[in-house]
Amino acid sequence: MKNIIISLSIIIMIIVGSCTQIEKADLVIINGKVLTIDKDKPTAEAIAVKGENIIAVGTASKISAMIESGFTKVIDAGGRLVIPGFNDAHVHFGPLDPDYIELRYTTDPSVITEKVKAQVARSRPGELIRGGHWEHEMFIDKQWPTKDLLDKVSPNNPVMLDRADGHSVLVNSYVLKASGITKNTPDPFGGVIQKDPVTGEPTGIVKENAKELIRTGEVKVERTPEEENTRLWQGYLLAMKEARELGVTSVQVPDSADFEAYEKLKKDGELTSRIDIGKLLTGDTILLKKYLELEKRYPKEGNWIRFGYLKAFIDGTIGSGTALMFEPFTDNPKSSGLSMMPYEDFENMVVKADKLGFQIGVHAIGDKGNNLILNAFEKAQKVNGKRDSRHRDEHAQTLQISDIPRFANLGVIASMQPTHCISDKKFCEKRIGAERAKGAYAWKSLADAGAILAFGTDYQVEPLNPMEGLYAAVTRKDRLGEEGEGWHPEQKIKMEKAIEYYTYGSAYSQFMENRKGMIKPGYLADIVITDKNLLTIPENEIMKTKVVYTITGGKIVYASGK
Ligand SMILES: [Zn+2]
Repeated sequence: MKNIIISLSIIIMIIVGSCTQIEKADLVIINGKVLTIDKDKPTAEAIAVKGENIIAVGTASKISAMIESGFTKVIDAGGRLVIPGFNDAHVHFGPLDPDYIELRYTTDPSVITEKVKAQVARSRPGELIRGGHWEHEMFIDKQWPTKDLLDKVSPNNPVMLDRADGHSVLVNSYVLKASGITKNTPDPFGGVIQKDPVTGEPTGIVKENAKELIRTGEVKVERTPEEENTRLWQGYLLAMKEARELGVTSVQVPDSADFEAYEKLKKDGELTSRIDIGKLLTGDTILLKKYLELEKRYPKEGNWIRFGYLKAFIDGTIGSGTALMFEPFTDNPKSSGLSMMPYEDFENMVVKADKLGFQIGVHAIGDKGNNLILNAFEKAQKVNGKRDSRHRDEHAQTLQISDIPRFANLGVIASMQPTHCISDKKFCEKRIGAERAKGAYAWKSLADAGAILAFGTDYQVEPLNPMEGLYAAVTRKDRLGEEGEGWHPEQKIKMEKAIEYYTYGSAYSQFMENRKGMIKPGYLADIVITDKNLLTIPENEIMKTKVVYTITGGKIVYASGK
């Protein structure tokens, strides 16, 4: 009998023991097609989360055992794609204007009238109504919009709605009148006042330099400091909302942002995307010391609000003809762009900041601009010794083919924004010629040469939506789609890789690849579930793909339809 009791208690101990071995999860995702980005275990069915972290990744049966009924939250992914949260490695993230009328992706121009009408109803007479990002190529009729869309609903308010590219603006008759623009006003040099071919009246579309003629005639709204603060706060909340709805669980802001505002968001439980904030690169020792202090306050070991990198500019842009090139522009043989500062000064700043241990990221567009920053990073290694510095080439847009292997050799990160490629390709080849275009937005060549890539958007230059970047990276076609193989199809990459650069690559670029950017036990539970399977859908479905769940640090911060 005694023996039976002993063996029974051993059996009970074993059962209890094995039960306690199975950790209970706070949150479980089951029935998913999990793309982990973890090379050792690329796919899975289910994920278990405890607190801020992933504790297990595996089969449905393994993870289901970690569910405690009445305690564990369970998300049934319904066979949908589950991936790490998007990490935008280059984004000018900040508070949005709560009154701005967002018109991106508008296909029916009457929507513009509706939205302006609603905003006028919320505004005082004379208050300026602002909005934009419309693109008439996306309208059903593909016609330029006119002031007729606005006049009926805004007789007493000035309205200005920018086109997506910012080069043209639609204004109402109130603004035309305040600006003194009539059918008799001639086009200024480098500008166009669009006029009705029949009546000769201005249509409300004002392009390029003609925008300088605009006087809004607005009645400025006086606000108390408290009202201003409330608006600013609303703007932060809106920005956070936009990011989480798009599955962006981390943002890396190149230059400045208000650390304290984000601390307040965190304290209030409103920080739903992790944020790195950088400062401008400087040679000023006192400032650099301040940045060292700031980095101590917001250290790399942190997970939420961190000091990022020191940012500099070596040149301008291709669009405006200010990218620094070795040879003149194809369409402007008199110019090879602009350097933002003498190279010697730039190099000195890089060497100095590198010595203090800072990470440095430099905006570089032209082939010479990119060459120069690689030279400066190389010089820093020679002078200060090689370390895990992870300096960054922000944009890495046009590269000499011979510079491509230098990224991996120097450990320089190619921080790229795929949507720039599909927005700029229309004029890029015209400006730099076919030969140099071979090294433009060359993410595949960089990856093949061993470089680490980090993807982002450069929002608000481009939209924040990661689906656009993924689409651009795998198709190299414009947003409306086009026949054929895309622009320089040899640079297209697979969707798995595009997602990797947008998650793991971006995490690596901020020294967080040991805890972010993969779905792996011990990693931060930043997870996104999408409505379509990005890995299998045809390319014209990619940009229509929506996020259905966003989880940041183990918390469901967005669920569509809720
Ligand atoms: Zn930027």
